[in-house]
Amino acid sequence: MNKATPPLSEHAILVINCGSSSVKFSLIRPHTGQSILTGLAECLLTPQASIKINYIDKDEKHITALNAPYDHQTALTLLVETLIAHKLVSEIIAVGHRVVHGGEQHAKPVIIDEKVKKTIKQLAQLAPLHNPANLIGINACQHAFANLPQIAVFDTAFHQSMPKKAYLYGIPYSLYQEHAIRRYGFHGTSHYFVAKQAANLLKKPLNQCDLISAHLGNGCSVTVIKNGESVDTSLGMTPLEGVMMGTRSGDIDAGIVIHLVEQLGYTIEQVDTLLNKQSGLLGLSELSNDCRTLETAMFDENNPDSAQATLALSVFCYRIAKSIASFSASLTSLDALIFTGGIGENSAWVRKEITKHLGLLNINISEEKNNEMCFGTSGNIAADNARACYVIATNEEWVIAEQSAKLLANTQGE
Ligand code: ADP
Repeated sequence: MNKATPPLSEHAILVINCGSSSVKFSLIRPHTGQSILTGLAECLLTPQASIKINYIDKDEKHITALNAPYDHQTALTLLVETLIAHKLVSEIIAVGHRVVHGGEQHAKPVIIDEKVKKTIKQLAQLAPLHNPANLIGINACQHAFANLPQIAVFDTAFHQSMPKKAYLYGIPYSLYQEHAIRRYGFHGTSHYFVAKQAANLLKKPLNQCDLISAHLGNGCSVTVIKNGESVDTSLGMTPLEGVMMGTRSGDIDAGIVIHLVEQLGYTIEQVDTLLNKQSGLLGLSELSNDCRTLETAMFDENNPDSAQATLALSVFCYRIAKSIASFSASLTSLDALIFTGGIGENSAWVRKEITKHLGLLNINISEEKNNEMCFGTSGNIAADNARACYVIATNEEWVIAEQSAKLLANTQGE
């Protein structure tokens, strides 16, 4: 901690979300949720590397300046220079990192030490694309902000409340005991954030709320929340299971993998690429993984891709509706269905298409309210007398900032 600690109202947490070729960052006041500075460095380690920083407190400023093969460390160095230039460094009390996989070891945020780093590294075998990148961010921030506590907030943590019947697969138990093969779930910070917002809208404490939350972005997951806790979720041991996504297949018959390898001569690497990068909306539409592109094609009768785009979106919505309906098996009551993520927050068509399959759950939406709800607005789109159906803009960064501040306060006995 810095010697001259700023007053509580000026405390800020630097939130870092480090991917293999990108770093997203936000400077957030945890007590109000206000973002002071946000930014994205992308295409790192390529000639197209770029960084954009929005300083929000005053007139918006954009810096888009990198055209060399910058890496994570140099991107963070530029961030530090920007923080110094705006005299913001002294306000930062900690750095909060999004870490994708915390396994069974981490059900809560934790201050990062060598032992925690070792666990994150070990868990890379369960999240090979994500945990190593998260570690790059942690190492770079330890270097850049040597005096500040670094805190890990895990995507899997919210789902550690799942009972065994929800997280075990129907395969030999020894694979769970010896190799930790089980459902972990992801998008936990997002599901937690929207559940809290839903509790506010319902005017009930979160621990009395029963909810189903659909996070629909490039990655998609459905989570069922009982008394404020995750009791089941669609993503599994990896982020490939569950509903169909932008480029990921979601659930398929596991026998297809065997068929691809044994009958069609695929290698395991090719199956991996097929299921993770060439399937989902992209694979079915043969056009795009982007919902906006597909909707544009679908609504244009003269577009030769229109029928295929419609088919892909219909399968996408039906599979999500089935997942939502199946999760009603975990509940004895349901306060609300929640839509969030880029698609869930913005696509009125997708919300309508999903909910049209959910009449048995008394989920019916008002066309007018549904069409009005997009671009960051939150609220209830349910028709009169139907079950509440909320559209809520997610804010994972805020959760990371809030949980980091809370952990710090607890550690310091405040
Ligand atoms: P990520 O999982 O990468 O965080 P996002 O939550 O940003 O992804 O969601 C990206 C998806 O949201 C894309 O499929 C995009 O097309 C979709 N999306 C964003 N805005 C709209 C919109 N106005 N209408 C329909 N889909 C949208």
